Amino acid sequence: MPAQPARNFPPRVDLFRTALSRIQTPVILADREDRIIFANRPAEKLLGRHIVDEPLSALLADPMFDVSTVDTVGAAPQWVRTAMAGVVPATIEALDGEGYLITVRESAAVAHAADRQPADELTGLPRRRELIARLKGALADARRSHARLAVHCLDLDRFKFVNDTLGHPIGDALLKKVVQRIVGACRKDDLVARVGGDEFVILQTEIDGQEAAEALSRRLVDLVSRTYLLDGHTVNIGVSIGIALSDGDATPEALLRQGDLALYQAKSGGRGRFAVFEPSMDSVMQERRQLEIDLRRALALREFELVYQPQFDLAESRPVGFEALLRWNHPRRGRVSPLAFIPLAEETGLITQIGEWVIRTACRQASTWPSGLSVSVNVSAVQFRAGSLVETVVSALAQSGLAPYRLDLEITESALMDDTEAVLATLNRLRGLGVQISMDDFGTGYSSLSYLHKFPFDKLKIDQSFVRGDGAGAGSGAILRAITGIGSSLGMKTTAEGVETEEQLRRIRSEGCTQVQGYLTGRPMPADTISDYLDRHPWDDVTA
Ligand code: C2E
Ligand code: MG
Ligand code: MG
Repeated sequence: MPAQPARNFPPRVDLFRTALSRIQTPVILADREDRIIFANRPAEKLLGRHIVDEPLSALLADPMFDVSTVDTVGAAPQWVRTAMAGVVPATIEALDGEGYLITVRESAAVAHAADRQPADELTGLPRRRELIARLKGALADARRSHARLAVHCLDLDRFKFVNDTLGHPIGDALLKKVVQRIVGACRKDDLVARVGGDEFVILQTEIDGQEAAEALSRRLVDLVSRTYLLDGHTVNIGVSIGIALSDGDATPEALLRQGDLALYQAKSGGRGRFAVFEPSMDSVMQERRQLEIDLRRALALREFELVYQPQFDLAESRPVGFEALLRWNHPRRGRVSPLAFIPLAEETGLITQIGEWVIRTACRQASTWPSGLSVSVNVSAVQFRAGSLVETVVSALAQSGLAPYRLDLEITESALMDDTEAVLATLNRLRGLGVQISMDDFGTGYSSLSYLHKFPFDKLKIDQSFVRGDGAGAGSGAILRAITGIGSSLGMKTTAEGVETEEQLRRIRSEGCTQVQGYLTGRPMPADTISDYLDRHPWDDVTA
């Protein structure tokens, strides 16, 4: 066989190339200048990288090996150093002085490969290392043949919840069924790898374009979300997918990173969907990463502060407490709103530490107030899941000496949505300590009424949108009335949030709200101005 560069093979030789590509034995061809001119897929898979154009001598394991001696070696066994299987026996044959043919003894290669790189035991799928190796080969193929390929990064939605609630055997059974559906949706040549507990990557080769990739992802989103029957349980999960496309011009790592960025986009877009990578996702991600770095530093550098907004009792016409609201005094960005960083803090889990700081600080500061005043603290759904909330509250109360009934924890419906039973257990333990529990932003979630039935909240905070009547028009009055009605019949207080005008105050009073919190009765203020505020403020004028 002539030792010419792979790209210049005459057409007839392309046929041989194709044939060599198809056989299962790893085959490598080198020219007499020690340059590899061809490696079939099994060879690249075994070596763990694309090797065409590399020196053959670099592959060979024996440091004493000198390529000039190959001619005389003839068919004597040699050893090849591989990424996937360590050193394996190979046969090197000189081809009439024109080049070399290297074949790896397949059984040895496979046996070693199985040792070093076990497939995933549960699903039998290859893992990340094999994926990277295959992706490398596929990218090289795509570059040569001007074909496109796609990687699909999959992350199951709600899998962890199923696993935690129904137990690991059911979780395992579910994963197997999911894998069956994924594999069933792919072509035989596509590679499906399991790269994490509930994360998979599909390598889809030789596609005509983005539509083919989108079609596969669309099919997967549909198939995976169909109901599963497992051991008498019906289970529903979903999948989010990020797609990255390449025509060979990328490294495996870069392509997988793009797939991950697109996956992140799909998840933040509401899960159960796919997104295709776009360069703009990169800059969004960089900003996010910077914000995350800043956020981690902020705790250490004491850049957080709590401001306090008064809550008024309408019947008593006096402030009965303050809500602690988090502020971030950023050295460059200035004062950052919690709405800008709490979602990221929740996603990264940092909210647990920040939230702990909030609870401890609020208890400590409130313990210096007159004893008739309570402090409300916002608690994120993530803090409930973290499992340390009760201990944090116990310790914050003990350290500050604040009476438990003066601490009021505000939770939103999202805290109850995920894992209702576990959250209810936590709420009951907190209630057992004597702490008050309020439902925040009431009316903006999905199924508030069933939660009211399950847990006796002390207070419902009615979302600002109903108080202002934005959007809801004339209906918002009816909603206000309905909520205060539910509150009074269940023995819960109702607080109208966001009251800014006398007119709104008059309205919420006539609808029967028991408390008000808004700019009209007081804006959020720094902790050290509270006593002045209490001394100075003409309460009766404001709420009369
Ligand atoms: P929220 O708990 O519903 O707090 C009420 C928000 O409405 C506060 O915004 C407050 O400043 C604002 N507000 C009060 N009265 C009025 C008014 O009359 N008009 C208008 N336009 N707004 C009013 P803020 O401080 O920006 O906080 C936004 C949200 O961030 C809070 O909503 C809460 O969900 C969250 N948050 C604040 N602090 C914390 C915290 O320490 N932990 C957690 N997890 N979330 C927090
Ligand atoms: Mg709140
Ligand atoms: Mg609220």
